[in-house]
Amino acid sequence: MSKNKSSESVKVVVRCRPLNRKEESNGPSGGIVQMDLRLGQVILRNPRAPPSEPQKTFTFDAVYDANSKQRDLYDESVRPLIDSVLAGFNGTIFAYGQTGTGKTYTMQGAWLDPEKRGVIPNAFDHIFTHISRSQSDKQYLVRASYLEIYREEVRDLLDPNHGNARALELRESPETGVYVRDLTSCVCKSIKEIEEVMNVGNQARAVGATDMNEHSSRSHALFLITVECSQPGPDGRKHIRVGRLNLVDLAGSERQAKTGVQGERLKEAAKINLSLSALGNVISALADGRSGHVPYRDSKLTRLLQDSLGGNAKTVMVATLGPSSQHYDETLTTLRYANRAKNIQNQPRVNEDPKDALLREFQREIARLRAQLNHRKWRSKQKKEQVDGEGWDRDGDEETEGEEEEEEVEKDAEEYVKLEEQRLEREKEAIREDQFLLAEEKQRLLGEKERMMGDLRKEQEATEQLTAKYKAMESKLLVGGKNIMDHTNEQQKMLEIKRHEIAEQTRNEREMQQQMLVQDEETLELRETFTSLQQEVEAKTKKLKKLYAKLQCIKAEIQDVNDEHVRSRQELEQTQNELTRELKFKYLIIENFIPPEEKNKIMNRLAFDPEEDQWKFQPLVPAESKSSQMKTRPASAVGYKRPISQYARVAIAMGAHSRYRAENIMFLELDMTPPNTATLDRSAEADPNQSPSMDNSPTKDKGIRKSRSWCQTPKSITSSSSNISLAACHTATSTAAQ
Ligand code: ADP
Ligand code: MG
Repeated sequence: MSKNKSSESVKVVVRCRPLNRKEESNGPSGGIVQMDLRLGQVILRNPRAPPSEPQKTFTFDAVYDANSKQRDLYDESVRPLIDSVLAGFNGTIFAYGQTGTGKTYTMQGAWLDPEKRGVIPNAFDHIFTHISRSQSDKQYLVRASYLEIYREEVRDLLDPNHGNARALELRESPETGVYVRDLTSCVCKSIKEIEEVMNVGNQARAVGATDMNEHSSRSHALFLITVECSQPGPDGRKHIRVGRLNLVDLAGSERQAKTGVQGERLKEAAKINLSLSALGNVISALADGRSGHVPYRDSKLTRLLQDSLGGNAKTVMVATLGPSSQHYDETLTTLRYANRAKNIQNQPRVNEDPKDALLREFQREIARLRAQLNHRKWRSKQKKEQVDGEGWDRDGDEETEGEEEEEEVEKDAEEYVKLEEQRLEREKEAIREDQFLLAEEKQRLLGEKERMMGDLRKEQEATEQLTAKYKAMESKLLVGGKNIMDHTNEQQKMLEIKRHEIAEQTRNEREMQQQMLVQDEETLELRETFTSLQQEVEAKTKKLKKLYAKLQCIKAEIQDVNDEHVRSRQELEQTQNELTRELKFKYLIIENFIPPEEKNKIMNRLAFDPEEDQWKFQPLVPAESKSSQMKTRPASAVGYKRPISQYARVAIAMGAHSRYRAENIMFLELDMTPPNTATLDRSAEADPNQSPSMDNSPTKDKGIRKSRSWCQTPKSITSSSSNISLAACHTATSTAAQ
């Protein structure tokens, strides 16, 4: 498949919520957003500009005004994407917009009101209804995960101790792209189960946050659904297709005020906006198409959405707007953002037979359990038939063919166990009643039978456990057209199909209208023939006016964009200045208060973690040396509380000196001055043992000398000057004696 052939652009739709009560009471200005549903256009009026100024017009794949229904948005803009996911594509829907404009309303909506259910509950319905209506040779496995990104930390919302859990790490594999390591994923068998998963996550989100509003407007929530489908292909083998769906409710896109913030708060504010500004940069880089580098690695969000933006995925972006005139600037920014995203090209492809498909593992495990179970049952059946006296000529390992036969085997196996128990019971009875047996012998035989009974029961228990495990595994796989009850009758089904057709038609109509509009402008000139000069002048003047208006529009747009650039540049510069000041301050502290060797020690412990994209401290003691440290006792301490010298050992044995009785400290003589050493050396030659308590022991002699030589050797080696003075001293004394 060539790249261009399969590439398609990101679908962008815009939705405007109704004015709320507060905005209505604020004044008569009304909304600033007008929508042309037929053409898919948004017309934005600048409340501060004079009425003569042309309004700004943006065209999107679809637009939804204040009266739009959740269902229509789903059927027209989301349904095709979910269908693709069910066919094995990756799909992403993300809601982008200012806080309070209806991102969560669009993604989740009001669960209890069927009319107000958002994209996520409708997608649940869609997926499970599709499974229940598909052919019975298809097997499905549906998994769900839920995570949030808050202050650049990824948190698992399905983890029971979410509040205390540490942030998760992102990893990358060539097979699946970027994924979250150790993320909980729940196998869901029905709409109810997957809704439960969503609820658990939503609660964790609410509990984890001190101020829910604040938290939810600053964190990104990602609900991930993986649908694996296995179907026999034309080659007779089962092929697995894996569709991954990301449902993303982004943080509010409004600018966080950074002015006047310092230190920790500044870092926090910078982090909160990091993911969104990185998303903006990624979208700009992709839409531009010229810059080779796309800064995916700048934030967690962009890394996770890497495939969805310019990669292997189909993507729908829902940009939400508020109609109030107060938020004109933010609304314009959102529209510009959305307009840029339209130009992103993705290369979606079906994920066929990926190595990490969980469904395959499940199928293998189920087959293994089934084989084990069958083997056990056949064995029991075989035994039963031996008991019954029937011949048995089939291989025990042979697998069952039909379900009926399997049931028969199961029945036989159960019967065998029953019969066997009865037989053992009878035999036990017979032994008990046998009068010719010795009591001892009786006991032994009874014990043996008892043991056989035990074995039988254990066997049965094991079989039951195996069956339970097998059934649990099997129940997780959804079989097309089976597991889920489909309550809709034929009429309803028809109604649904008709509705989808209408949605499809609306979509096509809008596309055609948009194309016509473009073509109209291009071909206007070609078609026109003028009967008179006057007419030509009129027509051309009209056209000139039109083009002039367009030119003005574009000029104004350029001016706006420039202003915006200047503003964001100023903001960035300000942030940079503040961060630089902060950095200088830290340097000053380091220079003046931390000794250089300490600083070096800390610097040496720093290591860069490329996965996390940050610097980290290595542990103080390398892990392996830490574990081996102090594991072995020093040789001198064997049998003692602590290291002990030979001298002390001997002294303890002698029991002579009270000093050595309880303590086993080393006996180390300190030789302070060279003359002393000389006297000691000499006296050692003459009389090796000065201590009066030691005279009559030949062994301790050695001990003392040893200890002495140990402490004296270095001295004699190190200081040659002492030797000289020692020699001088010798001669001095000898001359004096003479
Ligand atoms: P966000 O998640 O973008 O911060 P919410 O989804 O919480 O905003 O919406 C804010 C309020 O506006 C909610 O009370 C919601 O019910 C209401 N609202 C948003 N969009 C619509 C809509 N299209 N129709 C009716 N009410 C809406
Ligand atoms: Mg929200």
